[in-house]
Amino acid sequence: MEKIPLVDLKAQYLSIKDEIDEAIERVINKTAFILGEEVEAFEEEYARYCGAKHCVGVASGTAALHLALVACGIGPGDEVITTPFTFIATAEAISHCGARPVFVDIDPQTYNIDPTKIEAVITERTRAIVPVHLYGQPADMDPILSIARRHGLKVIEDAAQAHGAEYKGRRTGTLGDVACFSFYPGKNLGAYGDGGAVVTDNVETANRVRRLRDHGRQAKYEHLEIGYGERLDALQAAILRAKLRYLETWIEARRNHACQYTNLLGECRVVTPYEAPFVRHVYHLYVIRSSHRDELVVYLRARGIGVGIHYPIPLHLQPAYLQKDYGNSHLPIAEQAATEVVSLPMYPELTGEQIAHIADAVNQFCQ
Ligand SMILES: *Cc1c(COP(=O)(O)O)cnc(C)c1O
Repeated sequence: MEKIPLVDLKAQYLSIKDEIDEAIERVINKTAFILGEEVEAFEEEYARYCGAKHCVGVASGTAALHLALVACGIGPGDEVITTPFTFIATAEAISHCGARPVFVDIDPQTYNIDPTKIEAVITERTRAIVPVHLYGQPADMDPILSIARRHGLKVIEDAAQAHGAEYKGRRTGTLGDVACFSFYPGKNLGAYGDGGAVVTDNVETANRVRRLRDHGRQAKYEHLEIGYGERLDALQAAILRAKLRYLETWIEARRNHACQYTNLLGECRVVTPYEAPFVRHVYHLYVIRSSHRDELVVYLRARGIGVGIHYPIPLHLQPAYLQKDYGNSHLPIAEQAATEVVSLPMYPELTGEQIAHIADAVNQFCQ
């Protein structure tokens, strides 16, 4: 069998080539490249998809997190609670505000922040909680929201991996005070470059992010506050509009692939993903666990199977954060997960035959 990559963006492009090409041509013909009609139309369509009132397109998922935190009033001296088991952008955005990320260990089954460990780290400086919907599975939001309400904290969803995921029947983007999405090319809804969005029901938050992304601008050369250059561009918006129409079909394909993997790996000595009963997991990544992870990675790569590790080093142990004052944090569940997780190929265009081939290889390794 031919090599199977971890993700295959070319296969997806070819499946909707005419629509993508038309979208790109439309923008070039109008030569309106920054913000404008395409971005506004995408914002409206994506807000509707989430079931939220407002969507503001920004330059990346990192920008979405940063601007959402600023709009929530996070600043120097503040503490923001988050998970150590995520991409570093989650914590970086907190640091960019001059605030300090406070890492809380994860749930061993879902890999999401463990709500039962949050209250112990709340201090008088705590201002917000940033749960990450890791791999496409929403964090357990009800206990997180009730802790936040009790302590007067904002909840900012990092939904970079969880477009269209649901918690108790509601989509990401509507679960906290504000939600942040990434349209990095490999995400479930991916642009052809960088892109992101802030989604919220709160009109003040939306307006503030709208202003912050565009140099604090109120009119062409009238700047109400010191902002940033973190706008979404029209080419990305047009491409995202074309792809948004397929997002539900692609999510269903991912969920079917996950189901097939889990069935085929049932007898194997690896741990398959746990799906909480109240969620719709959108399988940005299909992540299994093995106590022989490093050997498994070598074994699968030698057979032409593209695998990844998300993530090999939890954030509290990253050199970037180790120097600072995070010595208090021994987070054993995240540390253990980082040595055992491995992501198998996952993208909508995978075939049943490819999944069977990958599962065979994993099963052979386990024998
Ligand atoms: C991808 C990702 C981000 C950052 O998004 P960019 O668009 O790459 O800036 C943030 N958080 C998580 C969990 C991500 O997976």
